Amino acid sequence: MTIGIDLDDTLIETTKTGNEYLKEFITDSSISDYHDLSKDEYLKFYQAYLYDIQKNAPLKKDALKVLNYLHSKNIRIVFITARGTLGFTKSIPITLEYLKDYNVIYDKIIFRKNHKSASARKEKIDLFIDDKERVLDEIKRLGIRTLRFTKNGEKSNHDLVSSWNEVKIYIDNLIGEVKDE
Ligand SMILES: [Mg+2]
Repeated sequence: MTIGIDLDDTLIETTKTGNEYLKEFITDSSISDYHDLSKDEYLKFYQAYLYDIQKNAPLKKDALKVLNYLHSKNIRIVFITARGTLGFTKSIPITLEYLKDYNVIYDKIIFRKNHKSASARKEKIDLFIDDKERVLDEIKRLGIRTLRFTKNGEKSNHDLVSSWNEVKIYIDNLIGEVKDE
């Protein structure tokens, strides 16, 4: 079995960390999420803080534990991320070093993918985990199983989880199903 996993806001606590830097970037507090900045301001914010965010955002709770567990079950792990786009090429070495520093086990990483379905197909992904509905919609269209990482009980076309422990339970059930077939 191969599992595809997104990095930002799926494996890594990116937005929460980024919004801490946002407080330095803007003095008026009307915006609390950097994704709500205008396109211009968003790029300025990225230019000032993106690499710091990528270096310092922690892994999500229990993510490492669950990845190690999946690895022990001989599940292949492929990360597919948009990092490296918009000209932020230093994100690639920063991310590789980050994953090494945290002892994150994975089999492959694919950078610079805003659209992930072609890679998901090529890598023969059985399950893809991401926080973005749009990304998962594209992947689901190929008949690949999708799991959305989200905080709130949002409306979604995909199965939902809000923690890595829930991911583990979901995959355990999936492995059970595959065995029963
Ligand atoms: Mg993401």
